[in-house]
Amino acid sequence: MLLAGDIGGTSTRLGLFDRAPDRPRQVAIRTFPTAEHNDLSSLLSAFREDAAVKGTSIERACFGVAGPVAGDRAALTNVSPPWTIEARTIAQAFGIQRVSLVNDLQALGYAVPVLLPSEVAVLQEGAAVDGGNVALIAAGTGLGESILHAVDGTFVPVASEGGHADFAARTEREIVVLRDLIQRSGHASVEQVLSGRGLVNLHRVTHAGPCPAVEDLDSPDAPAAIAQAALERRCRGCVDALGMFVDAYGAEAGNLALRALATGGVFIGGGIAPKILPSLIDGRFIRAFVDKELPFRELLEKIPVKVILNEHAALVGAAVRAAAL
Ligand SMILES: [Zn+2]
Repeated sequence: MLLAGDIGGTSTRLGLFDRAPDRPRQVAIRTFPTAEHNDLSSLLSAFREDAAVKGTSIERACFGVAGPVAGDRAALTNVSPPWTIEARTIAQAFGIQRVSLVNDLQALGYAVPVLLPSEVAVLQEGAAVDGGNVALIAAGTGLGESILHAVDGTFVPVASEGGHADFAARTEREIVVLRDLIQRSGHASVEQVLSGRGLVNLHRVTHAGPCPAVEDLDSPDAPAAIAQAALERRCRGCVDALGMFVDAYGAEAGNLALRALATGGVFIGGGIAPKILPSLIDGRFIRAFVDKELPFRELLEKIPVKVILNEHAALVGAAVRAAAL
C-alpha cells in the first residue's frame, strides 16, 4: 500500500492508496485538523487506528508539505509551534521502507498528468505541444506556483516561492492596489493580491463606504463572504473586487506561462478557483491571460488552460510520487 499526505497549516489529508497501472487507486482518505496534533507522528498514529487503515502494510509514503522542504526535512511554518518533519523518523516509527517529502505544489504537480477530463474545467481548449512544459498556479490561503519540466517523456515538478515575487500591476486601478499594499506592508507580492487575504486587499480599494456583505475584514471568513456576495451580485464593490482578482489571476498565470514556456498547458489549482468557477469561465480570466504584446498573445492563445476540480488532487499526486519511489 501507498500512504499519501497533504499537510497544511489548517487541515491535513491522509490517504491510503493501492498501486494500479494508470494511477494509484484510492482506498481511504481522511481529513484531520492539523492544530489538534503536536506533530505528524501523532497524526499518523490516529490515521493508523482508522478501521479502513488498521493492519495494512505501508511500503512507500510521500507527503506534500505547505512549507520549505530541504532533502528529507520539511518545516510546516504556519502552525504554532512550527512542525519539523523528518522522513527518516517517520519511516522508522511506522516501518515504511521509503518516505519522501515534497512541497505541496510539487505534490499537486505529480497529479496533473493523471487527471481525468471529469476532474478539470477547461477555460481555454488550446492545443498542448508534445514535450512542452506545464505550469501550475494555485491561489488559496497563499499563492503557490510550480513548473512541471518536461524531461525525457515525463514531468518533473519543481518547488518555487513564486507567490512572493512582486505583484506586476497592469492598470491604473492595479497601481492603486500596489500603492496601498506598499503603504501597508512595505511590499506588494503577488500573493498579497492572489490569495484569500488578497481578495480582502482588493475589497479595500473597491469600497468607498460600508459593504453590506462583509462586516469584519479581519475575519477568516471574509474572503469567502466577498466571493459569495460577488457571485450573487449583492454588492457592487465585491463584484468589482472579484473581477480584479480574476484579472490579476489570469495575468499572473500568463506571466508564469511565459516564464515556463508552458506550451504543454497551464493548470489552476488551489481552493479558490472551484469556488469562483462561474467568474473564471465567463472569459475574463482568459482575456487577462492572453493580454501580452504580440506575438506572445498568439503563443498564449494556443496554451490549454484548465481548473483542477478534484479537491484531493494533491493527495493523488503524493500517491503517484510514492508509487515511483
Ligand atoms: Zn462589498
